[in-house]
Amino acid sequence: MSEGLITVAYLAATILFILSLGGLSHPETSRRGNLYGVIGMAVAIVATLLGPQISGAGFAWIIVTMLIGGSIGLYAARKVQMTQMPELVALMHSLVGLAAVFVGLASYIDPEVRYTGAEKIFHEFEVYIGILIGTVTFSGSVIAFGKLSGKIGGRPMLLPARHWINLAGLIAVIVLGRIFLDAGSVGSGMAPLLLMVAIALAFGVHMVMAIGGADMPVVVSMLNSYSGWAASATGFMLSNNLLIVTGALVGSSGAILSYIMCEAMNRNFISVIAGGFGTEGGKPAAAGGAQPAGEVVAVSAAETAELMREARSIVIVPGYGMAVAQAQHTVYEITRLLRERGSDVRFAIHPVAGRMPGHMNVLLAEAKVPYDIVMEMDEINEDFPETDLAMVIGANDIVNPAAQDDPNSPIAGMPVLEVWKARTSIVMKRSMASGYAGVDNPLFYKDNNRMLFGDAKKMLDEVLAVMKSAA
Ligand code: NDP
Repeated sequence: MSEGLITVAYLAATILFILSLGGLSHPETSRRGNLYGVIGMAVAIVATLLGPQISGAGFAWIIVTMLIGGSIGLYAARKVQMTQMPELVALMHSLVGLAAVFVGLASYIDPEVRYTGAEKIFHEFEVYIGILIGTVTFSGSVIAFGKLSGKIGGRPMLLPARHWINLAGLIAVIVLGRIFLDAGSVGSGMAPLLLMVAIALAFGVHMVMAIGGADMPVVVSMLNSYSGWAASATGFMLSNNLLIVTGALVGSSGAILSYIMCEAMNRNFISVIAGGFGTEGGKPAAAGGAQPAGEVVAVSAAETAELMREARSIVIVPGYGMAVAQAQHTVYEITRLLRERGSDVRFAIHPVAGRMPGHMNVLLAEAKVPYDIVMEMDEINEDFPETDLAMVIGANDIVNPAAQDDPNSPIAGMPVLEVWKARTSIVMKRSMASGYAGVDNPLFYKDNNRMLFGDAKKMLDEVLAVMKSAA
């Protein structure tokens, strides 16, 4: 394939990636957006494979590794539960970081890459920065994977003088960079490079370990952004324009998403990154949940069905538990029945509900819930006082009034769905355990709140059965 044709193919792929991002910004166009992304990636891969940089044995190696990598990816994507998706994404980010590290090292020791003068300095600078970002992305993402999958506790690990440790690391990385760039040969440059890798590994671990459970959404999107910049740096090392542009697209969209997440959680980006937010004075995230602090009123599935049938206006608040229980289809069945009876049923989506951005929207779209009854938090929050029944399904942190009432709460200041303002609220969950942020929820003890204990899918099936038999 000629250089000109490859440039055209890369341009087409870039446009498809931009269209893809545009499509993914709305549930209605997201499938199309996804398709654009797939086509763009296929065009990019084919054009690169047919390009002048790959020939003979290299081609065979790439096909074999693509088959192995593709099979692992296919297996993982088919096997992963929807609720494990954020962990899988974190793991993928770590691989992008690792790839940047390997490409950087290979590019540094490649005997065929011969630069002199300013070009040499530029290339080695790209290598150093690429490996630095890649290493931080790798170790940070591995820890994020551990936290999201519950293998590592959600509590922030706060070392004494942690900001000083980070500052010392930063200074060391700058000094080592200087030594690396001054090194005359690959042999003498390797030592500062590997030392930097060790510091960057520790920094990535430290950075994510220091972040409290409630701030994880920001970290997930921030690592997404880092993985983009790591890919972009790889593009510079390989002189591949498409990789530079694609990496920059991922990097900047991840950064914008991090900003949106911070806004949604009323967090200052810098304080999230600095870590340990809200740990002073907040209740500890007790293993197995915070201790119950009051009396709750439990209801049965039959009573819940009755309350739902009586209510004229209902707002359903889905959370992580609905995803775990895979209850979205039953939720929609119930919604349909209620709407047929003339009730006004809507869904309220909190920006950080579940474990990844858009988690609830994906589930509700899968269950074919019409988009026009799915509301964002800002659109619906002021309607709760006029709502007969707020039905909370497997959500906890996102409906916690302590975010507004308790300045010492780890989630203080985070905007929440004000379900307690509805005439009645019902919280459906298995126990009194706390949510991801590990804080007790005063909503459970409010006079107008009822608890329906049990697995969301099982309980909703019972509610549906009662409704059907009463119809
Ligand atoms: P939470 O984690 O606060 O609460 C979920 C609740 O669901 C739990 O209290 C649990 O209680 C219940 N639950 C679990 N399994 C089931 C089940 N099978 N049936 C019924 N209930 C169940 O989730 P929210 O959605 O309210 O809030 C999201 C949290 O996750 C926030 O703290 C957010 O910061 C964080 N987060 C969000 C990310 C994002 O991008 N959206 C990324 C990372 C973290 P019980 O055990 O008693 O059943």
